[in-house]
Amino acid sequence: MSQIFRNYIAGEWVESASRKTFPNINPANTDEVIGLFQDSDRVDVEAACAAATQAWESWAALPAPRRGEYLFKAAEILESRLAQLAADMTREEGKTLPESQGEVKRAINIFRYFAGEGARQFSYHIPSEREQVFCYTLRKPLGVVGLITPWNFPSAIPAWKMAPALVAGNTVVIKPASLAPLSGYRLVEALHEARLPAGVVNFVTGSGARAGNALIECAGLSAVSFTGSCEVGNALYQKLAARKLRVQLEMGGKNPTVVLKDADLDYATDILVNGAFFSTGQKCTACSRAIIEEGIYEPLVQKLVAKTKQLKIGNGLEAGVQIGPAVDARQLETDLKYIEIARQEGAQLLCGGQRLTGGTFDRGYFIEPTIFDGVTPEMRIAQEEVFGPVLALMKAKNFEDAMRLANSVKFGLSAAIVSRDLTRVHQFINRIEAGLITVNLPTAGVEYQLPFGGTKESSFGMREQGPQALDFYTETRTVYLKYTQ
Ligand code: NAP
Repeated sequence: MSQIFRNYIAGEWVESASRKTFPNINPANTDEVIGLFQDSDRVDVEAACAAATQAWESWAALPAPRRGEYLFKAAEILESRLAQLAADMTREEGKTLPESQGEVKRAINIFRYFAGEGARQFSYHIPSEREQVFCYTLRKPLGVVGLITPWNFPSAIPAWKMAPALVAGNTVVIKPASLAPLSGYRLVEALHEARLPAGVVNFVTGSGARAGNALIECAGLSAVSFTGSCEVGNALYQKLAARKLRVQLEMGGKNPTVVLKDADLDYATDILVNGAFFSTGQKCTACSRAIIEEGIYEPLVQKLVAKTKQLKIGNGLEAGVQIGPAVDARQLETDLKYIEIARQEGAQLLCGGQRLTGGTFDRGYFIEPTIFDGVTPEMRIAQEEVFGPVLALMKAKNFEDAMRLANSVKFGLSAAIVSRDLTRVHQFINRIEAGLITVNLPTAGVEYQLPFGGTKESSFGMREQGPQALDFYTETRTVYLKYTQ
């Protein structure tokens, strides 16, 4: 009998009005139902929004350092359960246990970081042109914020939206991804146990088309922060712009790693394998294009293919496994569809390309890490996000050609360069069209204390994480105060 997980509305764990549920299934072992979650509808989401509206005034009136104390307490609770939470995450999302442990730790760090922001929340004192006038700014919370999150970082992303929203004095309704709702549930459970006042956080599960859509249509909402696909994000934006709501969209990527001919080949190989294949390529910041300068192309590709073939694929709970499954049947189909498209468009398959079958592989959505050679910029594999372990190789004649190739996509989330040439590295940093730029590091692997977000079609609105996260969740007020009459 599967455990039933309920919504969290107005400080109570409640069933959806319809009492319908949906299963959360382990992608590494589809026989395992991790739990049943509420298949919520408009009426549930509206109840959550009403609870958040009711709770807002007193939450906003609480001094920010005291709001932060709830996050500190929740972080402590989460830390005491880290091992269990990481195992939950691997079971629902498929990433390896060390990856899940790292992510839960990151969610804890995010709670602590923004708990501390409660005592900072910097604003400005700016000198006035006039005598005896004191000018400064204040940060005010927005009200009720709607948060919609994806499955690939099921703990970190809910944490990096909820924590700044709460410490800034907003109340929250969060709808997590249906493929991995348990990790977000655990965060809310910890906030509940930290005795967060009723209604300050509300958690509602259910399909994007119904629960998600109902959330963005809720009256009384002040802002929406969304992370997910461009398709859904852009559609949400159309609706939210018509309501003049503040919106933050973090979406897809087609992230390049440029390797220049002075690079150490073994080092570059590790960076490419890590960026392209870890977490099964299911990171928005994963590398999906390797742009390699002539001169090192053949030897680097040889090393890359050899290393990729050695990767151990399997259930992420098993020691030594480096790559888990695709998150579900649909993502697996997408990966295989793009592999077929790449073949038809003339790219040459160097390794991988198949679903893994036989033994325990038959119970999950396992796929081989895949590399295509001879990819040209107009091919779909060079332009569209696959969101799986599929790497496109492109040969660049020189640095200029590499820059042209790197910037020839509509996305701009992350980008890496591997080189010891300081001049080229700085030129890359100045010219690359990406919000997150790494040098001699993989395209993925960002830290919570720095701003996060992309450019071009990857993102819209203000940055997440780091001190800038508070800008989205607060409104600036400007005060001119004359202290004599
Ligand atoms: P998705 O299909 O766009 O779903 C994201 C969230 O939106 C889920 O909670 C989903 O609910 C919900 N949703 C779907 N349709 C909706 C609608 N009509 N109205 C309101 N909400 C709706 O994305 P995903 O497959 O979960 O995640 C993968 C994508 O996320 C990739 O494109 C990846 O690049 C992107 N991503 C970006 C970042 C970043 O920071 N830039 C980080 C991580 C992931 P259901 O789960 O119920 O469908």
